[in-house]
Amino acid sequence: MKNSAWAIGLCIILSACGSPTPLTTVVETPQSEKPKNIILIIGDGMGLSQISTALYSNNGHLNLEQFPITGLHKSYSFDDLVTDSAAGATAFACGCKTFNGAIGLTKDSIPCKTILEEAEERGLATGLIATSTIVHATPAAFISHVVSREQYEEIAIDMAKTEVDLLIGGGKKYFDRRDMDERNLYKEFEKKGYYVSDYSYEEIGSLRFDPNKNLLYLTADKHPLNVEAGRDYLSYATRRSLEYLEKKSGDKGFFLMVEGSQIDWACHANDYRLAIKETLDLDRAIGEALTFAKNRGNTLVIVTADHECGGLALNPGSKMNRVDGAFTTINHTASLIPVFAFGPQAKKFAGIYENTAIHEKMRRALSFDNKDDKNSKASSGSN
Ligand code: MG
Ligand code: ZN
Repeated sequence: MKNSAWAIGLCIILSACGSPTPLTTVVETPQSEKPKNIILIIGDGMGLSQISTALYSNNGHLNLEQFPITGLHKSYSFDDLVTDSAAGATAFACGCKTFNGAIGLTKDSIPCKTILEEAEERGLATGLIATSTIVHATPAAFISHVVSREQYEEIAIDMAKTEVDLLIGGGKKYFDRRDMDERNLYKEFEKKGYYVSDYSYEEIGSLRFDPNKNLLYLTADKHPLNVEAGRDYLSYATRRSLEYLEKKSGDKGFFLMVEGSQIDWACHANDYRLAIKETLDLDRAIGEALTFAKNRGNTLVIVTADHECGGLALNPGSKMNRVDGAFTTINHTASLIPVFAFGPQAKKFAGIYENTAIHEKMRRALSFDNKDDKNSKASSGSN
């Protein structure tokens, strides 16, 4: 007995004897530890080729390389092997596969509680940042419940019903100059105690991120510019929002979703040079999130995409910093999508799983009870 105890002790010291004992790698935080904050970063349309193209156009490096854990998710929706962004984001937000076009609804068109709504209920601070309009499919799926992603004005009303702490993105016209009614949602947000502002009043650089107030800041009247045309707020907004949410959340923690919305649009346009720039723009925001998480040790950062777009390939003849990209389609594709995780509970994101599992993993990481929540179960969709 003594000998075997001694042998085990020696094993621990040498960390290398007895082949069945795996080497334990050092992680920044113990895996049993629960994260206080979650930052979910979505590159819309950012498949592995979009990441590869950006990496090989940036001297072979991205901030994404700093993530210790990678996985893959199956992006298909309830009714199509090729998902759209509405069903894709609803899978992350609610944990259910739904039909393409649906925002925050189950496949039976029943509103599903989103992780942001649940976080809000539990007293966490919450936020959404996008480089599209803030009422576009990806951010909308975390906070709204409508049959069609095109219902932008209804989505804005849904946003005004919540207590989300921070909203940054385009789409001013859906709030203050609406077609479907005469409501001025600026006034309604202000009545609820929000600080409401937009690009026409002040640059985001002079915006005060006052943690005593909720914040709605609209970066454009409709969609913000693409990054080539001069849009440059994503990494700044991410850094300032993280500081803001941390102060605002006190000891409760926060949930923030950050979207690089326009990688997808560059790929629909089969413009891989723009896709590279949009992906690098998101990678800078990822760098901000990682810096925040590394300095705190209490923040789980997850980076993924809803789907690939364009069937992008890196053609033969590609060289470092001179990639020759080529597309197979102007639509989305069905390829597996990479997931990157950093921080407490990051290990749970290794492997291959459904897109809906990202919702379950985030909820479990935050110790949200899911015993009687029907919507947290992945529905057994076809395709
Ligand atoms: Mg999107
Ligand atoms: Zn798309």
